[in-house]
Amino acid sequence: MFDLKDRVAIVTGGNGGIGLGMARGLAGAGARVVVAARNQTKSAAAVRELEKLGGQGLAIAVDVVDEASVDALVRSTLDRCGRLDILVNNAGINIRKQPQDYTLAEWRRVLDTNLTSAFLCSRAAYAPMKAAGRGKIINIGSMMSIFGASFAPAYSASKGGIVQLTRALSSAWAKDNIQVNAVLPGWIDTELTQNARREVNGLHDNVLRRTPAGRWGTIEDMSGIAVFLASPASDFVTGAAIPVDGGYSSQG
Ligand code: NDP
Repeated sequence: MFDLKDRVAIVTGGNGGIGLGMARGLAGAGARVVVAARNQTKSAAAVRELEKLGGQGLAIAVDVVDEASVDALVRSTLDRCGRLDILVNNAGINIRKQPQDYTLAEWRRVLDTNLTSAFLCSRAAYAPMKAAGRGKIINIGSMMSIFGASFAPAYSASKGGIVQLTRALSSAWAKDNIQVNAVLPGWIDTELTQNARREVNGLHDNVLRRTPAGRWGTIEDMSGIAVFLASPASDFVTGAAIPVDGGYSSQG
């Protein structure tokens, strides 16, 4: 039910953080994982790590804000691996500022990287998935898909948009046996949140206090949900937004 042998997965931003945690899970379940990001030194290290764990990986460079680069990523995956079964739209950034201090260029950079990228990658993946008669798309939202934060206006808008994009894609493509779901991570210890802890006073302790599990998440916490949503175990699950947050979003 959770076997991903012979499946091919693209994980955008798979060279670190949550993307790497998901890539490890997928590779561990048998999938060949395309690590798709900009920094090729980090991507090569991630591929070596997947191989050390007994999995299969390869790195393909992509800038997810660039339509041509995204289309080339999918073409190159099909050329080199022969198929595409799973897409994880994980690449993301944040620029932490109050709304009144945001420039239009900053706003667009966050929306392009976090939201438009998921549309571009999903659109590119649709034809090969439809032709294969099945597909799995996993979009990465956030607690800010549900809650707002004064220091993250563009990020919150992009992550709210991810949930609605997920619902729209799942409605459109259910007939093609393509399931599209979102994962909403709580506070996970990664480079992104190490920066957040430096920039937002008191964040570390607030997260500990606010999270019923009493700890920050680790990238390993993201492996199982990736396997579930990529495997036949979730064939009747689509359009869902699933928190993986140690209870953060269910505490009043
Ligand atoms: P990291 O900063 O560790 O990883 C971000 C990844 O995105 C990197 O692999 C980076 O690779 C890639 N990336 C960024 N911009 C681009 C681009 N233009 N093209 C291709 N790849 C890009 O962050 P996290 O692992 O924490 O975050 C991953 C996702 O999870 C994001 O969408 C984030 O919003 C979300 N998230 C994180 C949470 C957390 O607590 N950590 C909580 C909720 C959601 P490279 O620089 O090599 O391109």
